[in-house]
Amino acid sequence: MRNFEDTYRHKGLREKLINAIREKGITDDGVLSAMMNIPRHFFLDTALEHIAYQDKAFPIGEGQTISQPYTVAFQTQLLEVKPTDKILEIGTGSAYQAMVLAEMGAQVFTIERQKKLFDQNKNTYLRSKYPRIKYFYGDGFEGLPTFALFDKILITAAAPIIPPKLVEQLKVFGKMVIPLEQNGIQKMKRLTKMEDGTLYEETFNEFSFVPMLKGKN
Ligand code: SAH
Repeated sequence: MRNFEDTYRHKGLREKLINAIREKGITDDGVLSAMMNIPRHFFLDTALEHIAYQDKAFPIGEGQTISQPYTVAFQTQLLEVKPTDKILEIGTGSAYQAMVLAEMGAQVFTIERQKKLFDQNKNTYLRSKYPRIKYFYGDGFEGLPTFALFDKILITAAAPIIPPKLVEQLKVFGKMVIPLEQNGIQKMKRLTKMEDGTLYEETFNEFSFVPMLKGKN
């Protein structure tokens, strides 16, 4: 069960959370105001509502999580979202991250490999608010060749490799934000596709994501 009422109390808690994220180093006002506009408790069971505005990841079923708000803000900031961007997201989960991107004006294509989570997003009250998000059930390693090329690609699960098909589906000078796991450590990377097809790689902090898995479930 979920509560789709957004009270002054919720807004107050959200404001505190956004201030805390700003203090942790997020400077992009577009990201912060998008997150201020989206009630995070709408994405959680009423049993978890009282902790929805803590800066923590929470379970959304099927062993998966809604990412920690700071992590959502960090990835979104690295993506340098513009209102005209066409963005591919891997790992829909609760769809919170997809809605942050849509709130910033982007057109979003999001893929989820777990049927139960994909189905959970079918009837949510929020879905109708963001018609610019298109939902797909499939394996993110394959991307969406039919809808390529993308300006940006965001991976919200820990990837064991840089998925070659996703690199193919990225525009020249497009950016991919990806938590890459190497030797048991996940580091956030931002990859920019150069004109010759090579990747310019920047490395950021360590994070903790659920694994990006092959195939559908
Ligand atoms: N962006 C989500 C975070 C979800 S956690 C949110 O805002 O809530 C990561 C999600 O990635 C999980 O739902 C998991 O099932 C999904 N996932 C893992 N590997 C995947 C793959 N290969 N393709 C698509 N989704 C995948």
